[in-house]
Order: sequence, then structure tokens, then C-alpha cells
Amino acid sequence: MSTLPPLFLDRMSRLLGEEYPAFRAALQARPHVGLRVNTLKCPVAEARARLPFALAPVPWCRSGFRVTDGSRPGKHPYHAAGLYYLQEPSAMAPAEILAPQPGERVLDLAAAPGGKTTHLAALMRGQGLLVANDVQPKRVHEMTNNLDRWGATHLAVLVEQPRRLAERLGAFFDRVLVDAPCSGEGMFRKDAAARRTWTPNHVARCARLQAGILRHAARLVRPGGFLLYSTCTFAPEEDEGTVARFLEAHPDFQVEVIPAAHGFARARPEWADARPEVAGAVRLWPHKIAGEGHFVALLRRRADAPPGSRLPLLRPRPPRGEMLAHYRTFVSQTLCCEPAPRDRLAVFGNRLYALPEGLPDLKGLRVERFGWWLGSFKTGRFEPAHALALALSAEDFQQRVDFAADAAEALAYLRREPLPSPGPDGWVAVTVDGFPLGWARRVQGVLKSRAPRWLGRMG
Ligand code: SAM
Repeated sequence: MSTLPPLFLDRMSRLLGEEYPAFRAALQARPHVGLRVNTLKCPVAEARARLPFALAPVPWCRSGFRVTDGSRPGKHPYHAAGLYYLQEPSAMAPAEILAPQPGERVLDLAAAPGGKTTHLAALMRGQGLLVANDVQPKRVHEMTNNLDRWGATHLAVLVEQPRRLAERLGAFFDRVLVDAPCSGEGMFRKDAAARRTWTPNHVARCARLQAGILRHAARLVRPGGFLLYSTCTFAPEEDEGTVARFLEAHPDFQVEVIPAAHGFARARPEWADARPEVAGAVRLWPHKIAGEGHFVALLRRRADAPPGSRLPLLRPRPPRGEMLAHYRTFVSQTLCCEPAPRDRLAVFGNRLYALPEGLPDLKGLRVERFGWWLGSFKTGRFEPAHALALALSAEDFQQRVDFAADAAEALAYLRREPLPSPGPDGWVAVTVDGFPLGWARRVQGVLKSRAPRWLGRMG
């Protein structure tokens, strides 16, 4: 491990006093590897029985586990099938604490690469509207890959500045998650780049950035709605300090007390000259729990704050003419039923989406996904999207080839190698132990993999 910044260690020693040796020792230990089961695809108990890794439960997340035997779950075909997301245990706390309900409108404002979005999607059980946003297009690309694997159908993905979202959408959301860009001190033991780039100035810059993001996030929360702020840093300026400044500028928000259960510790307002109620937030310390460093604050907007926005819904734009004919041909030859109700279908460019419930008109915003991506219209045909296969079940496909998770063919398919496969020509779903992995074209007894290239590189 490259050395830890001395100024960081000085500050932590000053703040922690007697606790410091335990903290310092924890920073030398190996980071925990975690995975969170995709309950949209598989109940937790079934997944636990299936997964060939030694797992220990994460106490604060029913679907979360630590991988304790040194195996590499990122390389397993179940990962490619979206049966779980690799996430260190502390990062499983924010979505559990925000606790989105099925049917709500939820925004993940700094979402890429999508770890917490996948968690929110599972907790919402596919019902309602989940909007995932980030400012960095490259990271958004990585996020859409992760969300495709996850098989969530009720989400839209945006690449926007929080200010533009707030101006356009107003107080529209029941719950907003701000998992803020931060100095990353809590990830020091697993992220060498965070150790190298740390300086006191970087901490100060992050605190200013967080204040800006939260200011816009506040405008997106409906009266009575929730705003969750989380970081993966120990820096009081970015944790209690950011929350304290936010509360001073936003008297319509108050701190909700998060129970200090599972080894979570109370926040420390005195470290940032913050008002006492900021202690309702929690700190997750690596010497107190099996996870990395995190800070989580849950804020609630007063119910008598000015009312939320009523936005016009995005109108469906159903395929017509040739497009409709190609889509119908595909569905009748490949699937057992229509994947989405006709009145939800919308064509944007050459792509066909199923719109999520209650999606507002997003005119003027940069949208990466308008909903569940079903496929694209190419010259003379409809080509299904990876996201379509990954959100369906084995019984939804007319033609399917199944491989066992430990069969060489499953990995060969992911590497896009052709495989012998008797049967009629056409689109075939490839599944691993019954869980969709992606599409293939069967041509004269050969299965030609259409697995996205990034799938073969995963893990
Ligand atoms: N929530 C993500 C997850 O669980 O996978 C991790 C988010 S990461 C801690 C912070 C994110 O904030 C980065 O993806 C970064 O691109 C994004 N970001 C940076 N500046 C931002 C801004 N002004 N508005 C919104 N997001 C921003």
C-alpha cells in the first residue's frame, strides 16, 4: 500500500484520540469484498444457496454479503447475468436508509457507475420511477451497462448538471439521493488514486462542490420528501460541515435521526462547528464495522414547504408503419408475449423504449435512456437490446439455449465465441442456469454470440 498522507493521519489522530490506534490498524487491513443480490431476479435465500462463494451477511442490508473466501465473483457468469452487484458493505447503507418505496419517484443525482441505483431499483421492486443522473458521460456509459445487466425496467438515465435538473423538474421527487463526489478518504485502503490525489485543498474543493450539488438537490425534493446525503470520506468539512451549511441555508429541511445500530457511530457535529442535531447522521468506521469509511445523513423537507411540481408527462411515441411491422415480427418470432404494454412504447431516434410510469417530459435535458431499452430499428429489421433480454425471464423466450454456470460454453458465449447449436435459425436467448445472459443469432446450427463486448471484459 502506498503511504497514507501524513496530514490526513495527523488530523485523524487529533480527532480520534484514544480510538486512533484501532482506526490506524484498520487502515492497514485488507478491504472487504462485498456483493448485493439482485432481488429483482432472485430471492436472497435462493441466491445464497446458488452462489459458489463463502458469504457472510451484511447486518444492515438484507440482500448484502461479504465474500470471505477470496474468490472473484466478478468473473462468474452469474455476475454477467446480473444476479448480484459487487459493492463493498458500507456502500450498501445509503439506499437502505433512504428506503424508497415501490411506486415512488426517486432521483439518484450523482449515480454513476450505478451501485446505489441498482440497490434503489431493487428496493422499489420495479414499480414507480427511478431517475439516475451523473455529469460525466463516460461514467454514465459504464452505469448504463450496469443497469442493463440489473434488468430494471422503470428507470430513466440522464447526463445533466443538477442545476438544470432543478430548473426543469422542480420539487418533483419523493426521495433524492446525493452520493456526493468527495475526497474518498474512506476508500484509502482500496483506492491508491484516492491516497495519491488527497490534499487539504482537495478536501476544501470537494466541500464547495458538495454545497453546490446539495443546493440544487434541495429544489428537487417535494414537501415532506427525503434527501439523503452520503460520502465515503472522514473529512468533517465534507460530512458534518456540508450538512451544517446546508441546514443554515435551507430552514425547510431538518435532520432525521438514523439509528446508530449495527456498529454505526453517531456523527460528530463538534468536529465541524455544526449544530447538535447533525449528530442524527451516522459515521461508518472501518475499525467498528466490516466495511469501508462512510458518512450518511438523512434530511427531510418540511411538509408545509411550497408545493411540488406538476409536470406534463412524456407522451408515448408508438412505432408506426414499417417500424411497427418489424417490431411485431420480432416479438411474434422470438418472445412468448409483448414485453411492455403498447401504450408505453416510445421511439426516440432509431431506439424503441418502454417508458416508466409517470416519466415527465424531459425536453431540453440530455437523456441517455428514456426507460427500458427494448431494441433498435435497423434497415429492414428490429434488433433487440441487451437490456431487453436481461429484464425478461427464461419462460419469456421462444428459443433458448441454457448453459450451466460452470460449463465452458457460458464463458465462451461471453467471449463472443461461436458455439455449435442445433435448431432453427433466428434470435436465441442464452441463459445460465435459467437466468438470461444475452442474445445470440443461430445460423445453420451455429450460435453467434451477441453479448456486448464489455461483458467479456468484466470482473
Ligand atoms: N453513487 C455512485 C455509486 O454508488 O455507484 C457513486 C457516485 S461517486 C461517489 C460521485 C459521482 O458524482 C461521480 O460519478 C461523479 O461523476 C459525480 N459528480 C461529480 N460532480 C457532480 C455534479 N456537479 N453533479 C452531479 N454529479 C457529480
